[in-house]
Amino acid sequence: MRDDTNALLLDAARRASAYLREVGERSVSPAAEAISGLERMGGALPESPSSAREVLALLDEAGSAASVATAGRRYFGFVIGGTLPASLGAAWLASAWGQNAGLRVMSPVAARLEEIALAWSAELLRLPPGCGGAVVTGATMANFTALIAARNTLLARAGWDAAEDGLFGAPSLRVVVGDEVHASVLKALSLAGLGRARVHRVPVDNQGRMQASKLPPMDARTIVCIQAGNVNTGAFDPAQEIIIRCRDAGACVHVDGAFGLWAAASPRFRHWTSGYEHADSWATDAHKWPNAGYDCGLALVRDPAHLRQAMAVTAAYLPGGATRDPSHYTPELSRRARGVELWAALRSLGRAGLADLIERTCGFATLFAERLRDAGFAILNDVVINQVLVSFGSPEVTREVIHRIQEEGTCWCAGTEWQGHTAMRISVSSWATTAEDIDRSVEAIVRVAAEQGRATPAIRR
Ligand SMILES: *Cc1c(COP(=O)(O)O)cnc(C)c1O
Repeated sequence: MRDDTNALLLDAARRASAYLREVGERSVSPAAEAISGLERMGGALPESPSSAREVLALLDEAGSAASVATAGRRYFGFVIGGTLPASLGAAWLASAWGQNAGLRVMSPVAARLEEIALAWSAELLRLPPGCGGAVVTGATMANFTALIAARNTLLARAGWDAAEDGLFGAPSLRVVVGDEVHASVLKALSLAGLGRARVHRVPVDNQGRMQASKLPPMDARTIVCIQAGNVNTGAFDPAQEIIIRCRDAGACVHVDGAFGLWAAASPRFRHWTSGYEHADSWATDAHKWPNAGYDCGLALVRDPAHLRQAMAVTAAYLPGGATRDPSHYTPELSRRARGVELWAALRSLGRAGLADLIERTCGFATLFAERLRDAGFAILNDVVINQVLVSFGSPEVTREVIHRIQEEGTCWCAGTEWQGHTAMRISVSSWATTAEDIDRSVEAIVRVAAEQGRATPAIRR
């Protein structure tokens, strides 16, 4: 290795450690000056080369301050996990390897670690033995990948080869979703040619759970998308009841379990996921609750052949081969070796570490709800896992509190609309969050709400 590369990597490590040392104490939102300072990185494309150290220095000086402190301990927006130290270190090493994870021959290490990590994940999620999967960029792509497999499988049973002949003239499929379906499932359905508007929406209860008794008539050309972990309430659809009905009708069931499905890894919370193992496919994120770092989604399917038939680069090539080439299971060919970080996350946590991470963050969500309720605010959901919805009174007051808390910088929480109510949504998902961070955040939220001077008494459901 050249000396200047060595110096550069040491410089990068020094800058990254300084960033992580300080990020927990600075404002979670970047300052407006830091965002406008990003313009220093633009301008005309330089004619001549710059040294890598200069490039890195500019990136750190202008870029670091404009980052959102998701790597800190008090970011509670959008179900965004942090990055475990083992995953961060693994990402650095894997970047140095510069592997293309598309084919085993391009990277035996990437292909093997991905297989191991997929098998460990399926086991942690308590999915059926023998299920297959793909490591993709996130749950949107995981939903997309699994839904294409479901679509092609149902069409194949109806005598239609969608991979070869496309969808024009194909028998029609019916897609059923809960009324609280995540927007990314609708996006995935639209990408898959199944349409976001032609879905049948099943009514939900006050926690956003699909009502099994309200399922429409189904048959062998029906795909039912259920949810493990509603993005607002954290609630779980009644999988057992729904899947029995689907099985009887010959319909296939896909699970969007972006974060909630990981509750299966905790002995205390896994009862919520009971029944989900009977589905045909599952989409989840390792960048959310398992804190494997962005980007890392998993598409898992009961029968790996269904995924392969839908995703194979060269259909029927290497029939029944003993080894698995990642690109026969993913939409992409060339890919970053993101399975390395997933492997590192799971290897460092172990079964007990992941259970602890799930239980700790759920405990903090409960603590948030108790403290904010004690302070006089309304908690709009049953806090079953790591999601809390809070109202500070009228929609205007709630929106103002959310805006002010984001500006104040102690913590960051997003806003949402929940069944006609405006709410602040708190999602505790980072391995790094501590009880002290909950104290500091509650103190800031209560203070900001009081400063409104209009903090109205709780609205009761
Ligand atoms: C986050 C989320 C998604 C989308 O996941 P991405 O990784 O952002 O693509 C889908 N469904 C649910 C329930 C989610 O929470």
